[in-house]
Amino acid sequence: MDQLNSEYDVVVIGGGLAGLTGANQLAKWGRKVLLLERQPSLGGLAAWFRRRGGHIFDVSLHGFPFGMKKFCRKYWNQNIADSIIQLPRVRIDNPQFDVTSTFELSDFSRLLVERFKAGREKVDRFFRYLKGIDFYLKGLDLISNALQTTGQLLEEYFPGRPDIHRLLMEPMTYANGSSPDEPAVTYGVVFGNFLNQGIFTFQGGTDQLLQEMQKELVKNGVHLRNNVQVEKILLQKGKVNGIEIGGQTIRCRAVLSNANLLKTITDLTGPEYFSTGYLDQVRSMRLSNSSCQVYLGIREKEEIPDVGDVIFTSTYPHYDPEALRCSRDLTSESFSFYSPKIRPGHDRYEIVASTNARWEDWADLPKEEYRSEKQKLIQKTIANLEKYIPGITEKIDYQEAATPLTFARYAGHEKGASFGTKFEGLNVSQNLPKQVEGLFHAGSVGIIMSGWLGTVTYGEIVAHKLEGFLSSPSRGNQVSINEV
Ligand SMILES: Cc1cc2nc3c(=O)[nH]c(=O)nc-3n(C[C@H](O)[C@H](O)[C@H](O)COP(=O)(O)OP(=O)(O)OC[C@H]3O[C@@H](n4cnc5c(N)ncnc54)[C@H](O)[C@@H]3O)c2cc1C
Repeated sequence: MDQLNSEYDVVVIGGGLAGLTGANQLAKWGRKVLLLERQPSLGGLAAWFRRRGGHIFDVSLHGFPFGMKKFCRKYWNQNIADSIIQLPRVRIDNPQFDVTSTFELSDFSRLLVERFKAGREKVDRFFRYLKGIDFYLKGLDLISNALQTTGQLLEEYFPGRPDIHRLLMEPMTYANGSSPDEPAVTYGVVFGNFLNQGIFTFQGGTDQLLQEMQKELVKNGVHLRNNVQVEKILLQKGKVNGIEIGGQTIRCRAVLSNANLLKTITDLTGPEYFSTGYLDQVRSMRLSNSSCQVYLGIREKEEIPDVGDVIFTSTYPHYDPEALRCSRDLTSESFSFYSPKIRPGHDRYEIVASTNARWEDWADLPKEEYRSEKQKLIQKTIANLEKYIPGITEKIDYQEAATPLTFARYAGHEKGASFGTKFEGLNVSQNLPKQVEGLFHAGSVGIIMSGWLGTVTYGEIVAHKLEGFLSSPSRGNQVSINEV
């Protein structure tokens, strides 16, 4: 800390994907940037960890849309973009159907027409509508006014077909916790992004991606510090003029907070600096759900058969987003398989099972019950996996579970929210600089701006706005997403 400057153009609070991308862009434009992360490593929820038996587990590297490749080339570097590869075999297995897809638009159309007997013309019209939504994204105001929900959209195109609704919706509920009562445009943007060219991953694993990003940040002159928790954002006459850490003040003209949106407003800044109307919006902002995960390591020299890259599995009779969140009653989860193909040079296989989860199911359990519920989750997960890979139990030499409490502790998000906020959080995040001059937020919000692609995109968008503010403070606050 001694070697830091006493003043920066921008302090970025938090090294999640949005914070890292924002910091990198601002530094490339010549701004003096300091990034502070409270954890020992960068990445936030884009996390990974080592365990005994030589295992490396990725927390959130299950898949992202193709757009990530384009954005990484543009905002990071060619090396990072070149390591992004497709996961071509996605299986969705439940009591209503069992299908495998490349998750590309042409393959989904084929499934809908051939397997689900939906009319070709209707299917084409539905996908044309999804493609068109990109147009709406250019004017987010239009999105805010959109009244149709995803459930209504699916019913409009495929009336009385709960099996088709499940095919089109269940993977998205896993991907970002969304449900049929969200605005249809949020579904259209995210599902449309995935269908663009399928599902992709980073070859080399999260650890390698973060190493590459760190190199790029250092090359571009960003000052990085880990294990530093920012305690306060300092204001003078309603404008940002610094941050505080352990009694030390660092001056800056602007802050880009990648910390939780609610905490940025209420804890790091203080509610007294915001208008009543804005605080009302903040209070009514809904969080996304949290997650549970089970990490399974396969013993050295053992292999597992290729059963696909990702399996969405459920024993629940129909699609129900609430049932998907009942992690303690586990009926539905997704399996991601990591082989040496994903992390070349690492000769181990790992499997990560994920499920959506409710904070309240885990938060207040007595210690012993919490432990035993985690054990039950692991045992149920292994039993589910036996259906796809008989004999897998014998090959597992490491097992561990994470719950909403784990995610809350790690990234500091209220109630362990995995994907930020519901749609209304986007407005709250975007309007932050209109409340406090020089204060910006970038991180998972509004469904659209969550996930790896969403947060990288949002980090870039907010960096543009922040650059506008630094070059011309009066105009910067007015820069809208449409101009970026
Ligand atoms: C279990 C799980 C699985 C997921 N799977 C996928 C997936 O397959 N594909 C996908 O696209 N997305 C996935 N996601 C979502 C994705 O990981 C997140 O949307 C994304 O990583 C969030 O990035 P972010 O920029 O919002 O910041 P975060 O990752 O939330 O990081 C914020 C950072 O700020 C730091 N911080 C907070 N407060 C302070 C402070 N006061 N001082 C200093 N530092 C601070 C935190 O320590 C953290 O590092 C998954 C999420 C979870 C939980």
